[in-house]
Amino acid sequence: MYAVLGETATLIDTGNPGEKSFYQLKTLLKNHNLRFRDFDHIIVTHMHTDHCGGVSLIQQETDLPVYVHELSRPVVTGGESEFNRSNQFFNDFIRQCGADPSVHQHARKYKEEIWRDVHYVSEGDEVYIGGKPYNVLHVPGHSQTDILLVDEQQGITFVGDHIIPELAVNAFIEPPVPGKKHRPAPLIQYRESLISSRSRQLGKCFSGHGKPFTQHIDLIDKRLAQQDARCQQIRQVLKERDKNVFEICQEIYPHLKDGIVFLGLSQIQGHLDLMESRSEVMKEERNSIIYYKLI
Ligand SMILES: [Zn+2]
Repeated sequence: MYAVLGETATLIDTGNPGEKSFYQLKTLLKNHNLRFRDFDHIIVTHMHTDHCGGVSLIQQETDLPVYVHELSRPVVTGGESEFNRSNQFFNDFIRQCGADPSVHQHARKYKEEIWRDVHYVSEGDEVYIGGKPYNVLHVPGHSQTDILLVDEQQGITFVGDHIIPELAVNAFIEPPVPGKKHRPAPLIQYRESLISSRSRQLGKCFSGHGKPFTQHIDLIDKRLAQQDARCQQIRQVLKERDKNVFEICQEIYPHLKDGIVFLGLSQIQGHLDLMESRSEVMKEERNSIIYYKLI
């Protein structure tokens, strides 16, 4: 989360939902002589709850406009029916992986969150941060709604969770956009996004977690290599016999339990999508569970 001060003040991301996080942020700003009403608007780097969760409470206090990628629209406007559609998708996904949704699906309860004055942005748009124009780059993968905010002149980029020096971020499985049949292949998207950010002058990068950094090219090369290494590891696991995503997950991430298993399933599925696109594996459905075999 960043409060960027210039000719104006802009808030990038909002922290978690709930009053505790809201008051923590309010106190933090107060320590810097800032109130929510001092900001011109909020920009949300992506629709993960630790980044966008504070929007509705902040807007209840002060009606700040919010800018977010256009693929956020179904979640922002879809209410309970979109929540249920998404829950159903994850239930089906976990089942297809060969896991048990009653054990391995993270229990979530619908809570109405109302956002007002939402401005949807897309690739190539310009948004103002601290009074200065920044370019919006859409970098799906970690989530479908990830954006980079780039000012090449100043040499500053807000990267959200697209690249974090301290950890290799997950590319999360998400439901298809409403009306589409197939879910996105997030790791394939993430790699395309990483390769596209690699070619940009990002300058000093401010990420959603961890310290600012400058060597984004080295970091991206490292992440791409780590993903290739993970594919190799999955190849080894599949040498023995065909396996479903849950079985592969248990071998590669044996420490994951209960609702956290989804993180591993999502990771393995993302790598299998990539391996399938490289004609390294093929899949076969048996009793509604998908099994992968080496080609
Ligand atoms: Zn995130």
